[in-house]
Amino acid sequence: MLKIGHEVVRPGMYAGDEPVTIPVPEELETVPGIPLEHREVDWYAREYPLETMNITERASRDWANTIRDTHVEMREIRKEHDNLNRPLIMAARLTGDQEPTADATGEDVTEVIKAKARELGYIEVGITAYDHRYTYQSKKDWVLFPHAICLAYEQDFEPTQTIPSVDAEIVHSSTYRTEGAAGLEIAKFIQGLGYRAQVHSPNDNTGPYIPMFVEAGLGSLGACGYLLTPHVGSRCRIMIITTDANVSYDKPVDYGIHAFCQVCQVCVNRCPGRALMRDKVWWRGIEKHKLYFKRCRPVMARYLGCGVCMKVCPIQKYGMATVMTHYAETGQVLGKGTHDLEGYEIEGKGYFGPGELPVFEREFFNSMPTGDTENWAFENLKSKAAQAGGAVSDDMLQEFKENLELGLGQSRDNLGMMEMEDYI
Ligand code: SF4
Ligand code: SF4
Repeated sequence: MLKIGHEVVRPGMYAGDEPVTIPVPEELETVPGIPLEHREVDWYAREYPLETMNITERASRDWANTIRDTHVEMREIRKEHDNLNRPLIMAARLTGDQEPTADATGEDVTEVIKAKARELGYIEVGITAYDHRYTYQSKKDWVLFPHAICLAYEQDFEPTQTIPSVDAEIVHSSTYRTEGAAGLEIAKFIQGLGYRAQVHSPNDNTGPYIPMFVEAGLGSLGACGYLLTPHVGSRCRIMIITTDANVSYDKPVDYGIHAFCQVCQVCVNRCPGRALMRDKVWWRGIEKHKLYFKRCRPVMARYLGCGVCMKVCPIQKYGMATVMTHYAETGQVLGKGTHDLEGYEIEGKGYFGPGELPVFEREFFNSMPTGDTENWAFENLKSKAAQAGGAVSDDMLQEFKENLELGLGQSRDNLGMMEMEDYI
């Protein structure tokens, strides 16, 4: 039995459930939240502000959507999601301008907001300061209020265990819609308390939300790049609501995950694209595992959104309390090495059990366009001219012109289904 350094007590998963205690072995203790150098975070935010990859990597996004659309069911899921989700996103965008519908009493409304969120089905709710250092450049002027209510909605267990699959893609997008609609309800509720509220849609991000979730004590960043929440790990969808309501802040928590991921490594070992790093690096002032996007997106695009890193995570499957208790008692990672946790099927390639990974040719990764659409048009022209010995033909110029016009004609909107890169 390992020595327990501290215990974390969290509210039960659903409203009315008993609290859950997570034992954190002493050898896994690091810092509350995540190791962070504020001066570096500040510097990167100022000198290299973040922008959504829906814009900066637009060429590969469009490429991925074209590939996904060759799969009939995936095309229908995407079409349906876009149709049903667009009104929710548009409604969220208007919330910041809506006035309160009652007079505020001046009392702290933290607990009533949290109770409302739990009543609406969110499994995690916490509050912290909105951190402008993570706002995308294209959203800089949009965020109005100082406090961030961080909200996580559970994605159903059964379909998630079938990842990568059509069923998992259906539940992935429907969870976003359910929480998007519930977020609008919370905004209305806060307005009824006499305050203003702005819904940051889970599909129209103002930035990566995970840093604020960690600050609000709702989980830790896992090696997979997702937020690992106490009850369901990465098997949830997250959003925030900013407000000027009179609220109190939560604190970051050391769940032991920062060190546990170094021991576990199941997602790193099982990633079909070899896109996850074994070791952490310092990135923009934070010590974390950095996902290798160019190895992830080609797999996501071709294999039903992939998501193997979510499926194989023991915290997703068994919850943090069970996994940490098992580790404290045995020194072992629960489920590691079993088919139940680590096995997955890839459409057209077969089943891969523990220790087995699919093999892809180099071209599988290299054929993905990079950068935004306009840059990619230019790179394409350069590469064709180089292949032709430096000569630029009229046909090449015409193709470049068409690609450039396509890029310039695209909306700068970052609206769309949240994807892996939104978490990193
Ligand atoms: S989604 Fe990306 S990082 Fe996760 S397992 Fe698939 S390829 Fe790897
Ligand atoms: S699978 Fe293991 S290493 Fe990966 S995020 Fe989950 S706990 Fe961390």
